[in-house]
Amino acid sequence: MPGMDGYEVCRRLKESPETKRIPVIFVTALTDETDEAKGIEIGAIDYVTKPVNATIVIARTRNHLELKRYRDYLTEIAFVDGLTEIANTRRFDENIEMEWQRARRSGDWLSVVLLDIDHFKQFNDTYGHQAGDDCLKKVAKALKKALNRPADVIARYGGEEFVGILPQTDAAGAEALGNTLRQTVAALNIPHKASSAADHVTISVGTASVEVPKDGDYSALIEAADKNLYKAKESGRNCVVAG
Ligand code: GH3
Ligand code: MG
Ligand code: MG
Repeated sequence: MPGMDGYEVCRRLKESPETKRIPVIFVTALTDETDEAKGIEIGAIDYVTKPVNATIVIARTRNHLELKRYRDYLTEIAFVDGLTEIANTRRFDENIEMEWQRARRSGDWLSVVLLDIDHFKQFNDTYGHQAGDDCLKKVAKALKKALNRPADVIARYGGEEFVGILPQTDAAGAEALGNTLRQTVAALNIPHKASSAADHVTISVGTASVEVPKDGDYSALIEAADKNLYKAKESGRNCVVAG
């Protein structure tokens, strides 16, 4: 391979969140065991030496594809919240990391939106835990439907708290989306007679946005959204505080 050797290609594939799950099989003339060890160590799944036996390569590739599909399936399950069937915190962690790196390379805006159902304890106390679960499912479904850009992700962040990742979105865009989400949940019109915020289920929303810098991580972004969510709760709930 001119310019870059197979080890380097593999190393770079394994380094990037977008490509690290691609199974790599080395086909090489090298027979030294240390070469094979080096390939496996940097993340190759298998190692085939020349001269190549086509039947063996096809069979091994088929096996690896089957394993890959199975792994993808398990990963998919592991990244979904059991109750609401939307993304869970694990998926959120993966995605925010990926989007942060991507935005850092491009210098783009990145926003997060954090939202929490208002007076949900009273909702449970009034209508029962099962009704609470049903409410969470409806809210999750509506939130997911309201996010229409393909790169947007909404995840269940805790009990009755949700978090959205909005790539290439500035503060004004995040605020607008926050309001859309707030209205979407209100429009479900799920009765909540014990709430002081409204006679139906509402959410409070905090957003935070940043033009992603070359250094630093995303923890401050989430903290800022959390602070704004807290402010939204403080200022009467059923509202959006952007930042
Ligand atoms: P606030 O407006 O300040 O957010 O008040 P709140 O009552 O929503 O907040 P608090 O944190 O006091 O209570 C959250 C409640 O959410 C408590 C818990 O019973 C309920 N909850 C959390 N997870 C679930 C769940 O999976 N199912 C149901 N039914 N309820 C849940
Ligand atoms: Mg709440
Ligand atoms: Mg909460």
